[in-house]
Amino acid sequence: MPTYDCLIVGAGPAGIGMGSVLQDLGVRHFSILERADIGASFAMWPREVRMITPSFTSNAYGMMDLNAIALNTSPAYTLGTEHPSGEDYANYLHAVAAYKQLPVQCGIDVTGIEPVDSGGFEVQTQAGKLTAQTVIWAAGEFQYPDLGSFPGAEYGIHNSLVQEWKHIEGDDIVIVGGYESGADAAIHLAHLGKHVTIIDRKGHGLKKGSSDPSVELSPYTKDRLRQVEEGRIDWIGGYEVQWIEADEHERYLIYCEDAEGQSRMITTMAQPILATGFKGSLGIIESLFARDEQGKTRLTESDESTVTPGLFLTGPSVIHGQLLFCFIYKFRQRFGVIGDAIARRFELDRKILETYHKEGLLLDDLSCCGETCTC
Ligand SMILES: Cc1cc2nc3c(=O)[nH]c(=O)nc-3n(C[C@H](O)[C@H](O)[C@H](O)COP(=O)(O)OP(=O)(O)OC[C@H]3O[C@@H](n4cnc5c(N)ncnc54)[C@H](O)[C@@H]3O)c2cc1C
Repeated sequence: MPTYDCLIVGAGPAGIGMGSVLQDLGVRHFSILERADIGASFAMWPREVRMITPSFTSNAYGMMDLNAIALNTSPAYTLGTEHPSGEDYANYLHAVAAYKQLPVQCGIDVTGIEPVDSGGFEVQTQAGKLTAQTVIWAAGEFQYPDLGSFPGAEYGIHNSLVQEWKHIEGDDIVIVGGYESGADAAIHLAHLGKHVTIIDRKGHGLKKGSSDPSVELSPYTKDRLRQVEEGRIDWIGGYEVQWIEADEHERYLIYCEDAEGQSRMITTMAQPILATGFKGSLGIIESLFARDEQGKTRLTESDESTVTPGLFLTGPSVIHGQLLFCFIYKFRQRFGVIGDAIARRFELDRKILETYHKEGLLLDDLSCCGETCTC
C-alpha cells in the first residue's frame, strides 16, 4: 500500500484551500479524501441562504476576494454575485479543484486516524485503510450539528437540517440561538409572514461594540434585519434555554433562565428551531488533540496537534487564544502556515510562500489580529 506524503480529510473550503497550497508547493503524493462531493456542506444549505461575507473582484488591487480560498481565484468573478448561495459556493470550490488539478477522492468517509509507531498515520475509511506521513484535518463543523445542547433538544429541528424555510409549519416560531444562523432563519421566516421569537443567550442581536463578526452580527445581517416588517421578530436577549418539554395540547414549553437565575417559559405550537451551533468533526479524532482548561483545542504555532506531531487542523475550529478563525477570510490566512511546516518536513522549495504572505494566505504573526475599530 503506497504511503501518502499528506492526506487531507474533507473537500470544503479548508480542504480545497489546503490542497491548493500543497499543489503549489509541489508536495508529490497527496490526496483529499471527501465523504460526499466537493463543497458538500454548502450543497446542503437551505436554498434561500446566502453567504454573509461579500465577494468582490478586488484581487487585482491586492485585496483578495473575502471568500476566495486559493491564489488568483475569486467567487465574485466565477459566480458573478456578491453573496453566493451554498450551491454557488460549492460550484466555485469545484472550479478551484479543477483549475488546480487537485487529487480529490470523493465517496471516502474517514472514520478514524491512528498514529503508527514507526511514524506517520493509518487513516481508516469505510473503503479501507490508507497510510500517510502527515494528515490535515479539514472535515469542518456543518455536518456535525449540536443536537443535544439541553434536555428536550430532540423536540426541535436544527437549522442545518432545514432544506427550505418555506417548509416550516406554524405562524409563531421560536428560534433558540441568536447569532448568524438564528438571525438568518428569523429573517427568512419573517418574510414568509410568520412571527418569530429569538432566544439569544449572548444577546448578539442587541450587541454593539465589537468589530469582530465572530462576536457581533455582520453588517449584511443588520441590513437584512432592518428590512423586516416591524413587530415580526422579538428578541429575548440574555436568556439561556434550560430544557424543552411537549405537553398534551401539542405545545412545546421552552424553559429559560437569565444570568441572575430569573426563569421564564415560552410556549409555541410550532417545532422550535435550534440554531445552537455545531459540535464539529473533531470528535472523530478527539484523543489526538489536547484541550486547555476551557476546552479549546491546543495547537502549535503551525496549527499542528501538540500531542500528535504530523496531524494539522485547518478550518473554523482553529483557535489561538481569543482569536477565532471561524470565517473563511480568517482561516484561509493559516493555509500558508501549515504549508510552510509541511514543506520544511519534505524539504521542498518554499519560495511560493512569499506570494502567499503577500496575498494574506500566510499569517504567522497573530499580534496584528483582534484590533477594534475606533469609528
Ligand atoms: C448558513 C451558513 C452561512 C455561512 N456563511 C458564511 C459566510 O458568509 N462567510 C464565511 O466565511 N463563512 C460562512 N459560514 C461558515 C463556513 O461555511 C464554514 O466556516 C466553512 O464551511 C468551513 O469550511 P470547512 O472546509 O472547514 O468545512 P465544510 O465546508 O463543512 O467542509 C468539510 C468537508 O469535509 C467533508 N467531511 C466531513 N466529515 C468527513 C469525514 N469523516 N470523512 C471525509 N470527509 C468528510 C464534508 O463532506 C465537507 O465536504 C457559514 C456557515 C453556515 C452554516
